Amino acid sequence: MSSSLLPAGIAAAILISNLHPYEAVEPHMGTLFRIKLYAANPAQAQRAFRAAFDRIAELDDILSDYKPDSELNRLCKTAVHRPVKVSNDLLQIVSASEKLSEETNGAFDITIGPVTHLWRTARDSNRLPDKEAMQKAEARCGFRKLHIDRTHRTATLDQAGMQLDAGGIAKGYAADEALAVLSKLDIHSALVAASGDLAFSDAPPGQAGWKIGIDSLDRPDAGFTRVLLLSNGAVSTSGASEQHLDANGIRYSHIIDPKTAKGLTRPIMVTIVARHGIDSDSLATAVSVLGAQKGLALVERQLGVAALIIGGEPGALRVIESSRFRLLPETRTE
Ligand code: ADP
Ligand code: MG
Repeated sequence: MSSSLLPAGIAAAILISNLHPYEAVEPHMGTLFRIKLYAANPAQAQRAFRAAFDRIAELDDILSDYKPDSELNRLCKTAVHRPVKVSNDLLQIVSASEKLSEETNGAFDITIGPVTHLWRTARDSNRLPDKEAMQKAEARCGFRKLHIDRTHRTATLDQAGMQLDAGGIAKGYAADEALAVLSKLDIHSALVAASGDLAFSDAPPGQAGWKIGIDSLDRPDAGFTRVLLLSNGAVSTSGASEQHLDANGIRYSHIIDPKTAKGLTRPIMVTIVARHGIDSDSLATAVSVLGAQKGLALVERQLGVAALIIGGEPGALRVIESSRFRLLPETRTE
């Protein structure tokens, strides 16, 4: 019997019951990308995984600051004092970064590369960066030294030796773009997770939403403290990372405060819920730098954005929810 002979509701129900869950993992962008999706059969799922992971790999080739030939790294060499055309992907990344830099007075800064690279070396050698090297690196940073011309789709740098670092925004964007590829292949229920950055489309068939667990910094052994039920959105968590440097009894995070050129030293864990991963990822990093109070104010100013911030002093951590966070649908803690 053709489904068109059935009432719409029944046809939809049959369609839903024909979808099955599939899951795949691949390493990209220095982390593991996990994709869960609902497809009609294994062949459709495999095609979808390949296309989505290929798109993520393509974005890594454009946005990586580790790969010498990435578009981002080539731009750092060629765009000094002269406008250079950039791809649509890089344009989106630098434009969103510039906007957030303006909004946060530079707390989020994609030109922070010289400093993040110094701290990367410091983490590898387990030694704090040298003061003089730090000063030199700092002098090569500053979002106002990066100029973007959206009409001509170019970027220009004010100074030689500048280094862009898209580490605070690229994974969220890649998750968005993977979903877009899946949607073109008729996969409308999917979740893409890159460690702390998640983006998802429609809820799994027959369910109210994707179950998104939010870990707790104050009670790391207690399991998930909150489980949200969400669809068509993104969730990013920053802060509770294994990437840090312990020196002289101080723990320095891999997130840098551009004002001090140092890794953050106060404990903070920020979870952002937004429509798109490019925003949740970058905002989570920005709010971590701004701290709970200023960070919360930033979140409240963003349309459709919610935050859970755990911060304060070690041993006396506070949990702060933005006004929109309190309204998010939740399921029972599991
Ligand atoms: P993770 O990479 O663990 O998901 P984030 O999304 O917070 O965490 O990104 C941290 C990365 O962002 C750093 O490794 C670095 O590449 C970059 N970064 C560090 N400090 C800043 C900053 N102040 N503004 C923009 N990017 C930053
Ligand atoms: Mg981030």
